[in-house]
Amino acid sequence: MEKEKLTVLIVEDQNINRQILVTLLSGEYKVLEAENGAVALERLKEHKEIAAILLDIVMPVMDGYEFLERFRETLRSSVPVIAITGDKDDSTEQKVLSLGAWDFVSKPFQPATLLTRLKNVIVRSQYYLVSEMKYSSEHDALTDLLNRSAFFAAVQRLLTDDPGEQFAMVRMDIDHFQTYNSFWGEEEGDKLLCAMANWLRQIAGRCQPCVYGRINADAFCICVPNRAEIIQEEAAKIFEKIAVYNPEYRLAPSFGVYEIHDPKEKPQKMYELATLAAQRCKGSYLEYLSYYKPEMSRHVLENQWIVNEMQHALNSEQFEVFLQPKYALSTRKPYGAEALIRWRHPEKGLISPGVFIPVFEQNGFIGRVDCYMWEHACRLIRKWIDAGLDPAPISVNVSRVNLFKPNLVGQLCELMMKYNVPPRLMQLELTESAYMENPLIMGQIVKALQSRGFAILMDDFGSGYSSLNTLKDIHVDVLKIDMKFLAEESEIARSRSILASIILMAGRLNMPVIMEGVETAEQVSFLQSIGCNYVQGYYFAKPMPVPEYEALIPGVS
Ligand code: C2E
Ligand code: CA
Ligand code: CA
Repeated sequence: MEKEKLTVLIVEDQNINRQILVTLLSGEYKVLEAENGAVALERLKEHKEIAAILLDIVMPVMDGYEFLERFRETLRSSVPVIAITGDKDDSTEQKVLSLGAWDFVSKPFQPATLLTRLKNVIVRSQYYLVSEMKYSSEHDALTDLLNRSAFFAAVQRLLTDDPGEQFAMVRMDIDHFQTYNSFWGEEEGDKLLCAMANWLRQIAGRCQPCVYGRINADAFCICVPNRAEIIQEEAAKIFEKIAVYNPEYRLAPSFGVYEIHDPKEKPQKMYELATLAAQRCKGSYLEYLSYYKPEMSRHVLENQWIVNEMQHALNSEQFEVFLQPKYALSTRKPYGAEALIRWRHPEKGLISPGVFIPVFEQNGFIGRVDCYMWEHACRLIRKWIDAGLDPAPISVNVSRVNLFKPNLVGQLCELMMKYNVPPRLMQLELTESAYMENPLIMGQIVKALQSRGFAILMDDFGSGYSSLNTLKDIHVDVLKIDMKFLAEESEIARSRSILASIILMAGRLNMPVIMEGVETAEQVSFLQSIGCNYVQGYYFAKPMPVPEYEALIPGVS
């Protein structure tokens, strides 16, 4: 098969000279002609295939100098140019080269020399084009760092080239970068990313041998020798730099470290595990560096299992209501209970909510699970009423996913009507942390629910940052105090005096309190001494299956 000829553009005003060049070149090349610079620019626009230009300097209309100047501004400026002129002056040569010509030939020229020079510039330009393409296919356009695939390839080379060294993959990103981007604008976001890239370059300068790159959005990664102190030191420096980067916005990075034990492992996999480690520090400002541990992978697999099973579990009624009685301290008698979910899995047995609730909260499934629990609580109350009993209220949990649903009030009222249960018998536990997310709306919801006859319990009171604001803004019916105030770990005297103050304050506001997590006789007598009304905890009773509860409290009160 015949090789396709490359195209050369001859720019020369004198017909005779042009013909000489055409004759010389047309054996090897396809030739296009232009009689001045202006025509040449037109030809370049029409013919994308032009591989080189032979350019006369002295021409009417537009001479070679002007052509070179204009040509530099065009998208085709990487096409090599050889200037040809009869002018013997050295400064001409200097001038055309500085304007971007690749080479220079004086008239009269040796035909063989011209052909060789032409071939040379074409080969060089094609090599240049290929390396240019290679460069941009491997680099991120914004930061000029290696991109994802090039970075992974570079890691593989680094690990094979230096088998004696132990390496670690450090993955870094900026917490809530998307929020920063949308708040300050993309241009500011880009600036921050470029600053990150530069900080990474500085680390790279200090931690040789290493490779680094930008993986996507705000995720960067660097593969360095595994020296814990140095990695920690460098991460701390970046933490400091990011913290002061924008004085009006508190930025924090997260670092995940994967220590490479098997250099043959896929770099993508190493990166995923470093990412997993980094997730550990999300949401915590001061904790910004975390090392990968195998249990993190187990955790991901467990969560995946939960997601795969949850819908079927709901359909086949694997979720069960357990009841934990609450006790009045004045009488030490049970009064009502909290409904707590349990998952009775046919193979795995009883699973505690601490394992699956966080997963459901994250994927929103908690919304449906809550409704399921409310409905089962209603059925129980109905059953007791039908048996002629006078049941005490059962409290159910309302997750934040449901709290901010617009039809929450309607949905609960419908349920009460369906089972003909008075709302005062189903109390609602709302977690204090939901308040912080949306104080205004939460206040409105609480009011709406109370107006329909529901009593509202503020769950986990004291666990958040703004407990006192909650008290001020939202008038709940009962405070459930978080069990951390009873933790026997440290500062017990302090916790106890805070607890006493909370109970005093609640008393002044005419708000009954329930203390959670009461485990010992000593705690009970302390709570009684400071005027606590109700307690819920293992000391009196653990959460139990419904039949056990019914046996414990024959009158269900
Ligand atoms: P919570 O609402 O604060 O429930 C109290 C938790 O404290 C329960 O854990 C209960 O078993 C435990 N507890 C009770 N007394 C003691 C004690 O004396 N000592 C200790 N150490 N713990 C005690 P459980 O049942 O494992 O539930 C954990 C969390 O899961 C609940 O905390 C609640 O946030 C969530 N949860 C449980 N059931 C539901 C539900 O139906 N819907 C929603 N949205 N969340 C639920
Ligand atoms: Ca609760
Ligand atoms: Ca609680």
